[in-house]
Amino acid sequence: MRRRDSFLTFGKPQLGDEEVAEVLDTLASGWLGTGPRVGRFEDAFSRYKEAEYVAAVNSCTAALHLSMVAIDIAPGDEVITTALTFCATVNAIIHAKGTPVLADVDPDTMNIDPSDLDQRITPRTRAIIPVHFGGRPCEMGRIMAIARRHGLIVIEDCAHAIETELDGTKAGTFGDFGCFSFYTTKNVVTGEGGMVIAREAKDIARIKVLALHGLSADAWRRYGDIGHKHYFVTDCGFKYNMTDLQAAIGIHQLARVDRNWLRRQAIWRRYQAAFRCLPIQCPNEPAAGSRHAYHLYTIRVNEAESGISRDRFLSEMIDRNIGVGVHYLSIPEHPYYAETFRWQVDAYPNAREIGRTTVSLPLSAALSNLDVEDVVSAVADILSGSAGARRHPTNRVAALTHASRDDTDCT
Ligand SMILES: *Cc1c(COP(=O)(O)O)cnc(C)c1O
Repeated sequence: MRRRDSFLTFGKPQLGDEEVAEVLDTLASGWLGTGPRVGRFEDAFSRYKEAEYVAAVNSCTAALHLSMVAIDIAPGDEVITTALTFCATVNAIIHAKGTPVLADVDPDTMNIDPSDLDQRITPRTRAIIPVHFGGRPCEMGRIMAIARRHGLIVIEDCAHAIETELDGTKAGTFGDFGCFSFYTTKNVVTGEGGMVIAREAKDIARIKVLALHGLSADAWRRYGDIGHKHYFVTDCGFKYNMTDLQAAIGIHQLARVDRNWLRRQAIWRRYQAAFRCLPIQCPNEPAAGSRHAYHLYTIRVNEAESGISRDRFLSEMIDRNIGVGVHYLSIPEHPYYAETFRWQVDAYPNAREIGRTTVSLPLSAALSNLDVEDVVSAVADILSGSAGARRHPTNRVAALTHASRDDTDCT
């Protein structure tokens, strides 16, 4: 077994000298809180997403929470999201005093299944939170049609989807709100950070107030040189503001967003070619007319097909010094949700199966070609010992959706 000399961190951020210089300038300026650099980062993000109303906050969790507070989610209101997401999506609904309701996913896209979503709507449903899983756009045409039919608010969880587009529309601008994450493993990082896009000016104005204690004016203007200004508390807000230190990193990350996207696309393509004949399921290629953000590259390791259990595969990767991820164990499998909401794991069979078989391989723009080849050889090495390295002919995803991925030349 070949083992890398150093551990390959999963989701390693790609950082440059520009970020370092801007952080040092921020420190030298003496202004570390919310100030001019947050303004610059918001302007740059607004231009990138072609969205007029944006607000920087300190996480995507905060962005989701504030979006729901801004529409006055009240106890008893139901908010539907996917059973295959990070816990933060569900926790934000709970923090906003809503009742989370889960819908299952489509196994081919891992995104919320619009038909299942439709069935979960009740007279108490107020909002839908689709998650663009891994950076692949949800079926927003169908989701928006359902939302319009029932008068529901749509809040897109775009934590994986900064670069995502569908038929020329950018993720986060289909619905009423788009929520983004700049956590260290995401495509654009600020250490911790987030952004909200809103369709309506009044919503973003309320979110800006709510993100800073409910104060009527930005604190940094309060301490500026334009004369003393009183402030008033107009709402019971939160401490969710982004700081200039975070924005200093984000400004330069965003300037490199498309270059890094191209790099991750090249890594994705290398994996797709390298794993074509292995007994695992590779992700589907992006659908025509869509732009995938290439945030996650997830394979499925199914013991019957791959000859190795998913959990064994994960440990074998770690043994070879390669970091891996699991996105995600389905929400009903977590004890807190199971006990609180009495959700049955088997009521979301697609999310359950993905959660038990999925493995995320490193897909960071910071990976060198040698790193990528280390991942490729580790995966091939682990599976070469398993039941036949030839792609199983009944592989459903490959057989159904990939003309170019049949295994005729995999002997
Ligand atoms: C990372 C993530 C979040 C939370 O983002 P933070 O910025 O860490 O709060 C929410 N939803 C999904 C799908 C995520 O992957």
